[in-house]
Amino acid sequence: MVPDKLTALIIEPSTLHQQLMTMHLGGLGYNVVFSKTGKEGIHLLDQAHFDVVIFAMFLPDMTGESFCQELRLRKEHAHLPAFMMTSSEDKDVLEKASAAGVTELFHKDAFNKLTDYLKTFTEKVRRGKKVSGQVLYVEDSLVVAKKTMHVLEGLGLGVHHFTQAEEALKALESNQYELVVTDVMLREGMSGIAFTRVLRNKGSQWASLPILALTGLDDVARRIELFRAGVNDYVSKPVVDEELIARVRNLVANKKLMDQVQVQQEQLMEMAMTDPLTKINNRHYLMEVAPKKINESYRHKIPLSMILMDLDHFKTINDQHGHEIGDLVLASTGALLKQVLREEDIAVRFGGEEFLVIMSYCDEAKAIEKAEHIRARIETLNPGQIPITGSFGVAALPLDFRCDFSTLFSTVDQAVYQAKEKGRNRVIVRQVVP
Ligand code: GH3
Ligand code: MG
Ligand code: MG
Ligand code: MG
Repeated sequence: MVPDKLTALIIEPSTLHQQLMTMHLGGLGYNVVFSKTGKEGIHLLDQAHFDVVIFAMFLPDMTGESFCQELRLRKEHAHLPAFMMTSSEDKDVLEKASAAGVTELFHKDAFNKLTDYLKTFTEKVRRGKKVSGQVLYVEDSLVVAKKTMHVLEGLGLGVHHFTQAEEALKALESNQYELVVTDVMLREGMSGIAFTRVLRNKGSQWASLPILALTGLDDVARRIELFRAGVNDYVSKPVVDEELIARVRNLVANKKLMDQVQVQQEQLMEMAMTDPLTKINNRHYLMEVAPKKINESYRHKIPLSMILMDLDHFKTINDQHGHEIGDLVLASTGALLKQVLREEDIAVRFGGEEFLVIMSYCDEAKAIEKAEHIRARIETLNPGQIPITGSFGVAALPLDFRCDFSTLFSTVDQAVYQAKEKGRNRVIVRQVVP
């Protein structure tokens, strides 16, 4: 998308400085309009839209300060970025300028500072021009709603407006919002504060959803109450559009950042719990979920079984065919497990060539059947044209006495040991001894 060209008004009597400005601002992609006097400058500002005004400290007809004061008297220019160029080193100048409403002061000799500043400023304006996303908006006054919606939509936001909080809560269930804007005083049903409380108690899914309150009550105690209920920010009524825009932009930008962080966190979590080679879960994941599964089994008397598989003579595979082929064998084994197990079964790469499976709603007989099935599939897998086999240990969780993860694991581990002793490529079952 080609960004709109921004327009700068420059009030500068010196032709040399005008030329300099044209060069620098043109480089930043600005349209530049010049005026030699303050009066003409004000006139031009009233005629057309400008994104920024830059003026000298001494103009032929007035000072930069008085020009700025006059500019700020006009409501529509109250927020226009206004930069003054000065050759004075006087500290007083700075103070007076800021009192007059100058946004920033730049030294005439340090032109690059102005261009650097403008570069960042321009990026911000261009990026900030439009915001995307949906807003959930609660306001009982249709007149106020119309005006606010106009501002929000002007920013590029979609708005779902409701006159009652109860309706808005329903809409929340089936829509994705970047922001909630709520009036505090609502004539019917719950108030904006009650609405905020309900929303904040709804659960983590909406925890990062920002809430902006619009309030006619400019009383400190009530404002504190708003923040306690969980609003992120507020704007006093009657709403000043520029303030609303600035606060909405901040809240939406923060929400987007929070969402990004959350996605990254989930990705990191996923990475930390997954074995990169076999693409199945790793031991960290097992330790997170296995104790919970076992507890659940005891609590609800659900049968649970464990299968441990260790590939046979894997060292030899590595030695004869190379580590890369060894890796291929491991990856193929992981893929096979994913294929033959159910979504809710837990399959992890426990160590080098050891794989552990935990299955809920699976008694000993079914677990033996499953292990036998996997054993047969491994035998015919032939990854990289290499015949492989595995030794299997199976144990069911005893439901008549308490057994923890490590006891169950050591039982299947002993079973695997026996399978190796008896000639490998077989399934051995053991019972947990109390
Ligand atoms: P057994 O039938 O008794 O289980 O013999 P084995 O050779 O499979 O047993 P051992 O546990 O001695 O060897 C496992 C080998 O697995 C040793 C190790 O180098 C290899 N290994 C462990 N992790 C990886 C890996 O990520 N990639 C590859 N290619 N090899 C691995
Ligand atoms: Mg109201
Ligand atoms: Mg081993
Ligand atoms: Mg082995």
